Amino acid sequence: FQSLLTFHHQMEAVSHIAAGVAHELRNPLSVIKGFIQLADLTNDYNKYYETILSELDRMNLIIEDFLSVSRKKIERKYQSPVDIMQSLVEIMKSECLLHGVRLQYDFTDTSKKVHVNESMIKQVMLNLLRNSIEAFEKSDSEKNLQIETKIEDNMFVIHVKDNGQGMPEEILSKLGRPFFTTKPSGTGIGIPLCKKIIEDHGGDFKVDSTYNIGTTVTLGLPLE
Ligand code: ADP
Ligand code: MG
Repeated sequence: FQSLLTFHHQMEAVSHIAAGVAHELRNPLSVIKGFIQLADLTNDYNKYYETILSELDRMNLIIEDFLSVSRKKIERKYQSPVDIMQSLVEIMKSECLLHGVRLQYDFTDTSKKVHVNESMIKQVMLNLLRNSIEAFEKSDSEKNLQIETKIEDNMFVIHVKDNGQGMPEEILSKLGRPFFTTKPSGTGIGIPLCKKIIEDHGGDFKVDSTYNIGTTVTLGLPLE
């Protein structure tokens, strides 16, 4: 019964997001349609070409972000959180190398397990990594990403800390609203989805940030 209930909640979350995604896709779609009509009327395709392409790219990003989560099976297994972190760190290392990011990590060992859908948890971490990399791009400091874990109140707690550009209060207060983004080609799906996935696992998701200093995302997963 417990797992049926969870399954139902997860399907509800996915269909809620699907409705939002459909809504979000209509904007670029109508821009594209309008610009093609304009190009036709004025016989000037060059003028609208760039906008049409960038709107198509934006649609693609929205779809990618959404599919990366909704496609995954939502079965859960009892797994060692340390094993998950070890395999994650291998993927993250190459991503960091590619972007000139110095990655430091320190994982607390535990024999206890978490009850998770591993690919969803990986998706969360990769989303956070992507956000940090994008925040580094707007900051002049050396790019440092720190991943630390600890055990607190029978939760496996993960801190993801970057020294990217951080967020001022007015942005931080809007964080978590679906489709809230400050990026020209952002989707605003990342953070709400991460939060939803972690909460569906019975965990906590929290973001602390200081403008021009950096951001720390903390997530906790219940241990068995
Ligand atoms: P997107 O990345 O598509 O903009 P997200 O939901 O992932 O959407 O993030 C929403 C917004 O939160 C971003 O546009 C950015 O302004 C802010 N943000 C998220 N993570 C970070 C971070 N690590 N550092 C600074 N700002 C961040
Ligand atoms: Mg993002």
